[in-house]
Parts: sequence; C-alpha cells; structure tokens
Amino acid sequence: MHILLVEDEQKIADFICEGLRARNFTVTHCADGHRGYEAASQNVFDVIILDIMLPGRDGLDVLRSLRQAGIDTPVILLTARNELGDRVQGLEMGADDYLAKPFYVEELNARIQAVLRRHGGTPRHLVRVGSLELDCINRTLCCQEQTTELSSREFSLLEYLMRSPGQVLTRGQLLEHVWGYDFDPCTNVVDVCIKRIRRKIDSLDSAGKMAGVIESVRGTGYRLSPR
Ligand code: CA
Repeated sequence: MHILLVEDEQKIADFICEGLRARNFTVTHCADGHRGYEAASQNVFDVIILDIMLPGRDGLDVLRSLRQAGIDTPVILLTARNELGDRVQGLEMGADDYLAKPFYVEELNARIQAVLRRHGGTPRHLVRVGSLELDCINRTLCCQEQTTELSSREFSLLEYLMRSPGQVLTRGQLLEHVWGYDFDPCTNVVDVCIKRIRRKIDSLDSAGKMAGVIESVRGTGYRLSPR
C-alpha cells in the first residue's frame, strides 16, 4: 500500500511517516504543494494525505488540479481545528475525508482503511485475477501467499493478459504492447516470455491449481483464463 503524504511541518510529517511505516505502508513524503502535485500526478498511490496549509500551492489548490486532471486517488485532507470552511470546500472539491490536527495515527489509519473500502477495497496498483495478484509498483506476482519478481517484459506481458482476462491476445498485439514492434520480427520472443511466466507461476503454485492459467490459442496467441 503506497501513501503520498504532502505536509510541510517536519515534526508532523515524521510522526505520520513513522506511524504508517510501522503499519507496513510505503510512504512518500513531499513538503510543499508543487512537489505534492507533481508526485501525485506522475505516480500511482493508493491514498493521498494532503495538508491544506502548504507552501507553494495550498492543499485545496492541489486537490482541485488533481480532480480536474482526472486523478481520482482517494484524498484525506489534514486541517487545523479552525479551518471548517476549508474542510467543507475540500469535500465539495472531491476530497474523500478530512482529519483535524492533532490526531493519533490510529485515527488516520482508520480513515485510510475506510476510504479504501469505499473505493472498492482493492488497492489501485494491484491487479487480481483468480488467485493471481500482480503488484504494479513492485513488479511482483503473488499467488498462494508466495511472491516472485518479474522482469519488465514479463511484467508488461502478464499485466496485459491480466487486464483482459478471457480475451485472446494475438502475438501481434503482444509484440506491439510489450516490445513496441508494429511488425512481426519473426522471432519467438513472445513464446519464450510466456514460457518464463508460466514457469514462475508454477513455482508459486505448489498445489498445481494454476496449471494452464495462460492458455495457448493455436495459431493466434494467448489468453488468461478468468477463473
Ligand atoms: Ca501545514
């Protein structure tokens, strides 16, 4: 779970980072609004914790720009006790919740869990199909509580298949999406990469339940079984 914290007061930032990391969150911290916006618009986070009073751009301005750019990552605003007007405005502008300072990390954690539940529970950087779970930040594949790392080609190919379960993807589509080829180079790179991915899935799957999850479609390409 990856959290972006945008907070200028070092003491508060340290306290939040420490508390959330102790709960196994990955936390990226930015100390001003400009950097916060940049980070939020260029990376995928599960939740953004956004202070309102910030140097550079204030939190509401950052929030407005994010929503206008179509970025709908859940946002929890941090406010001072006396900023009631800002909170209301923030919620109207698309914040998911707010928390008044000072607060306990337990409260913040509860708010984070609540906004994630409202957003459907599955963190945005995870793609799940059956018992396969792909982590798009760490480029790892998890199955039956075992995890393995993927090379960038393996990751890209498997992500493509997992985002279209049940659909046949042709060699041409895979070559273009993963290797950037718009022609058939007459090599078997796709098949070799599929073979490596299957081997990795097998290595995670001691019970043998996932055998055949990537189906070969003769003469065409591959399909991920949606089971
Ligand atoms: Ca502040």
